[in-house]
Amino acid sequence: MTNGNSSPRTADIVILGAGVMGASIAFHLAKRKPGKIVVIDKGHVGQGGSGRSSALIRMHYSYPPEVQLALVSLHMFEHWREAVGEEGDFRKTGFVRIVHPGETERLKQNVEMQRKLGVNVKPIDRVELKELEPDWTVDEVELAAYEPDSGYGDGAGVANDFLTRARELGVTYLSKTPAVEFLVKGGRVRGISTDRGEIAAPVVIAATGPWTRPLFQHVGIELPIETEYHQVAILKNAPGMKGGGCACIDSVSATYFRSDAHDKFLIGDFYGQRGADPDNFPQRASDDGLEEIIERTSRRIPKLENAEVVRGVTGVYDMTPDSRPLLGPALLACTFAPVSPAWVSRSPQPLAW
Ligand SMILES: Cc1cc2nc3c(=O)[nH]c(=O)nc-3n(C[C@H](O)[C@H](O)[C@H](O)COP(=O)(O)OP(=O)(O)OC[C@H]3O[C@@H](n4cnc5c(N)ncnc54)[C@H](O)[C@@H]3O)c2cc1C
Repeated sequence: MTNGNSSPRTADIVILGAGVMGASIAFHLAKRKPGKIVVIDKGHVGQGGSGRSSALIRMHYSYPPEVQLALVSLHMFEHWREAVGEEGDFRKTGFVRIVHPGETERLKQNVEMQRKLGVNVKPIDRVELKELEPDWTVDEVELAAYEPDSGYGDGAGVANDFLTRARELGVTYLSKTPAVEFLVKGGRVRGISTDRGEIAAPVVIAATGPWTRPLFQHVGIELPIETEYHQVAILKNAPGMKGGGCACIDSVSATYFRSDAHDKFLIGDFYGQRGADPDNFPQRASDDGLEEIIERTSRRIPKLENAEVVRGVTGVYDMTPDSRPLLGPALLACTFAPVSPAWVSRSPQPLAW
């Protein structure tokens, strides 16, 4: 996916990182024709968190701007062909948010706020939940939030589609081109140095996920971004399990899960290990780790006890102290990890469930 041997020497905008964020920014900017845009990635498109994402698509956030952002994204996923010109892979399975019984009031408030913002969500009781998902044990559930329009997608596919379209619109893409250092003069960014030379540009946008902090340390900016290692289990549906069911974030089992096509099932963990090196983390999930999350999820879905593990997925999130994305004039577009529930039980003040 490299654009020949010659690397451009100048650009109007350089975007660092070709994950879902960098590729999306490139696509949306290219549609506005702001001049010459160059995207560079140290590896290839979608190779970061985007290609490892469990890709749950849900509207259930407690911070209104995140709900609004999720709604705009959902609309795009639903109309991917018109919006991006590619087939897309959005599966509208429905989504359920289960909280501890003591959190029912907060769930109701969240649902109310989301409804006001236009989300198709309703509170459902345990009888309705059992009707929706007969395989789930729901005895302790007082109330859950149900979003019929949500589901899951494909992170690598989204990054690829955005970048493909961006390139058709004239964006230059350089794979295997690590950004080494921001070029700074007179207190302003003047471009970026890469291992293929310098690119002068008045605007540089960093969408470099868990690699962002060291990049900014070079220019004396200390960003509060931490990394967190996570493991995900992909299982074959157990005999008798209904395929294609709702995606779910479940505070009680501290897991999230979803169907994976019609014959498989994906489970992720709320808990992860802080301080992971995004260039050097285990590529193979540990048997113990997978067993542990399957055991916890089996309390919710007993049939999973007999499900066969197909494979594990590992990945690294970028995390901020308040679990919100860092976006803005510092030219950042990173830490979208809060779209994952992973932080929920770790955060001293769970803000965004
Ligand atoms: C296991 C796991 C499960 C997840 N599940 C969900 C989920 O269910 N739902 C959800 O919404 N989100 C989920 N996420 C989070 C989601 O995947 C990320 O928020 C999203 O993919 C981040 O995209 P990004 O473009 O910001 O970063 P990335 O996809 O990490 O992309 C950053 C890119 O920058 C490049 N790069 C880094 N440094 C440099 C450099 N110096 N020079 C050039 N290029 C560089 C990298 O090669 C990489 O391609 C999950 C993440 C993980 C790891």
